[in-house]
Amino acid sequence: MSGARKTYIKSFGCQMNVYDSHRMADTLAPEGFAETTTPADADLVILNTCHIREKAAEKVYSELGRIRLIKEQAAREGRRVMVAVAGCVAQAEGEEIIRRAPSVDLVVGPQSYHRLPDLIARAERGERAIDTEFPVEDKFDALAAPSRDATRKRGVSAFVTVQEGCDKFCTFCVVPYTRGAEISRPVGKIVAEAERLADAGVREITLIGQNVNAYHGEGPDSRAWTLGRLLHRIAEVPGVARLRYTTSHPGDMEPSLIAAHRDLPALMPYLHLPVQSGSDRILAAMNRRHTGADYLDAVARVRAAQPAIAFSSDFIVGFPGETEEDFDATLALVEEVGFAGAFSFKYSPRPGTPAAEMAEQVPEDVKSERLQRLQRLIDRQQAAFNARCVSRTFDVLFEKPGRYAGQIVGRSPYLQPVQVMADAALIGTIAPATITEVSANSLFGTLATPASMHQSVLVEAGA
Ligand code: SF4
Repeated sequence: MSGARKTYIKSFGCQMNVYDSHRMADTLAPEGFAETTTPADADLVILNTCHIREKAAEKVYSELGRIRLIKEQAAREGRRVMVAVAGCVAQAEGEEIIRRAPSVDLVVGPQSYHRLPDLIARAERGERAIDTEFPVEDKFDALAAPSRDATRKRGVSAFVTVQEGCDKFCTFCVVPYTRGAEISRPVGKIVAEAERLADAGVREITLIGQNVNAYHGEGPDSRAWTLGRLLHRIAEVPGVARLRYTTSHPGDMEPSLIAAHRDLPALMPYLHLPVQSGSDRILAAMNRRHTGADYLDAVARVRAAQPAIAFSSDFIVGFPGETEEDFDATLALVEEVGFAGAFSFKYSPRPGTPAAEMAEQVPEDVKSERLQRLQRLIDRQQAAFNARCVSRTFDVLFEKPGRYAGQIVGRSPYLQPVQVMADAALIGTIAPATITEVSANSLFGTLATPASMHQSVLVEAGA
């Protein structure tokens, strides 16, 4: 194959897709494809799609309309551009994509990315290549590892997929259908990946999975390890200074994971723990397999282990059958926990999920009004949390130059962006900064002098 080809990969949705896009790029590098950020320069355009949001498929089709124009322009210049659709929409729509968008050359589901080189070869021969199987071979084994250079370019914070798929079958969610049953990668392979990343300069690793704390990968002792045990092992990798994990299910906050929050200084005190609703009736209709009290109990157990913890969450407002009383239970739960941030959405049906068929769909105006009330409450809590950061000193992992000359930007333990005027040589390192000011989405600080340095994680969680 020619060594001068370029691929443009556009990632939609969650961190799992960002990680998958990197691994696709790594797998295509030995095939002679360099990455480009300009679609018009690309010989291969890959849309790595997400099925979580409303009208996801329609958005992909309109994006494909724009890509078609690029493809046609390239053809006029005598160049062939191949178009691939990957990700959860590819899995859900399959052949339908090629039928509706003839400019697409290949469709590849999330479990088949290791087969991309073969699919591309087939597409080059003029075949319409589709692979949406759940193959028996381990795609993680077959996907290429990133080069040291590629890892460096991606920065000091990296994702590592440890688990994929979900067996929970929440009634609103497409993941069990698009990503399949839960599988966990073996401990040894995850540790080897973490070591490679740390060796290339990565300082923060976020372990990711659709239901990450259901992790049960095989350990070196041939037994199933929990996520807590895995975190303890990765914390031993030289160079790894920070650990995070996402996305978790409240029902899977097992004891070793709670212990990791107590015992591992590298495990950051910020946990995204989706609850979706505060009403037990709605949680049952969602098939969440936990109650509001179970959620509060999980929060209390993590807080007892790590008093500095802060929580974020996901909420669905206006799930079918949600009454004003159910919604009040959600507001009460938010008041009780006190979140540092949260994502909240109006319920919208996903074709093929049980909730889409439920009677008692909530009218749009009711959903909108409730969503506004919930978001106002969460915004207040987030602003209060950020305000409590002023005058505190945090360790900040500096990631990149800021918007202004002389400024650099990093992340606090609570994932807040922190902007500081400081030498760019600090990028890639962790240094303490004292917070002087906050805006809606950022903290501003000054590098702490040695005299003012103290334990960095000081903000108490809760409203
Ligand atoms: S636990 Fe999460 S990924 Fe699994 S079905 Fe429920 S919402 Fe979807």
